[in-house]
Amino acid sequence: VAIGIARETAPGERRVALTPETCKKFIAAGADVRIERDAGMRAGFPDSAYADAGARIVDDADAAVGDADIALCVQPPSPERIARLKSGGVLIGILQPQADAARGDAIVARQLVAFPLERLPRTTRAQAMDVLSSQAGMAGYKAVLIAAQLAPRFFPMLTTAAGTIRPSRVLIVGAGVAGLQAIATAKRLGAQVEGFDVRPETREQIESLGGKFLDLGVSAAGEGGYARQLTDEERAEQQRRLAEHLKLVDVVVCTAAVPGRPAPKIVTAAMVDGMKPGSVIVDLAAETGGNCERTQPGETIEAGGVIVAGPLNLASMGALHASEMYARNVYNFASLLLKDGALAFDWNDELLARSVWPERAPA
Ligand code: NAD
Repeated sequence: VAIGIARETAPGERRVALTPETCKKFIAAGADVRIERDAGMRAGFPDSAYADAGARIVDDADAAVGDADIALCVQPPSPERIARLKSGGVLIGILQPQADAARGDAIVARQLVAFPLERLPRTTRAQAMDVLSSQAGMAGYKAVLIAAQLAPRFFPMLTTAAGTIRPSRVLIVGAGVAGLQAIATAKRLGAQVEGFDVRPETREQIESLGGKFLDLGVSAAGEGGYARQLTDEERAEQQRRLAEHLKLVDVVVCTAAVPGRPAPKIVTAAMVDGMKPGSVIVDLAAETGGNCERTQPGETIEAGGVIVAGPLNLASMGALHASEMYARNVYNFASLLLKDGALAFDWNDELLARSVWPERAPA
């Protein structure tokens, strides 16, 4: 089985879908690996490390993935690149085939067996392949560091000769994978941390990290361990209580999401206007429109003395560890397709059957 990795081409993308570690594992499993020159460089993995791991370093993307049985990527390749992949081959990555019709069409036209890893069911068995979780962890971590950098204050309490400094009050909106990592990170920096979520089970998770659960009186657990969209009344209640609370907070990190929908708008423009000057909002949901009405994706703005940042692709900022985790997720998934050094699809395996795109009828 030939496995190929082309350099990522999305602007600002530093991650890579194969590391020297997973390269070794693929080769031990009988695969032949080719990787485009410098594909891992921006994540901290030089060509020499891949060569030592047994990969062939090739000069261009065509040589890497043009006749690969399995092409690995982080971000979806362009429709042009997809059209040059091996017909009938396997493509594994965060592919979001429905987000861009041209891309989806290209996958179909090329008769690829595509596995958008974001479609994996979030079952216990799939945890080792869960790219949403591994990348969200890095994003939550970086979001807090950005907030700490933008804030005109210390996070920890300090007792100094120049007097006592009070710790920053940090509120994390949404306590999923990214939010919990954000809480843990803000806590390590010494801040006073609160978090809230609409899933009631997050109370215990927030508290176990040393955070305080902010009760806004709304509970909206949905299917599959995710949140559901709030009703208008629930949203109004959440907003009324939150508006009061935000007047006391120094830093807000937003991480709330509902699968398949634009990010819920939780922090309104009026709430931002009510915050103290010098407050900071970092909106990790900027990618899907933002949890804050003032967020401008990809920008950092100031509104009435409040700094609002909407950074994109935070996982790429921590490209080395994000790639290490991502590549392991990918290896664990690809292993399901490799039997005795050859490609084999077990469509009775729900991880394959439920993630493959285009969807196929149950076997
Ligand atoms: P996500 O990125 O879809 O959402 C982030 C958080 O935003 C969620 O916790 C959600 O409840 C919250 N949220 C949505 N609307 C909100 C609102 N109006 N106000 C406040 N918060 C709101 O979710 P995620 O982080 O990918 O995962 C969420 C859940 O899935 C977690 O329980 C996580 O433990 C679980 N999970 C399970 C597995 C597994 O078992 N394999 C893997 C990953 C995640």
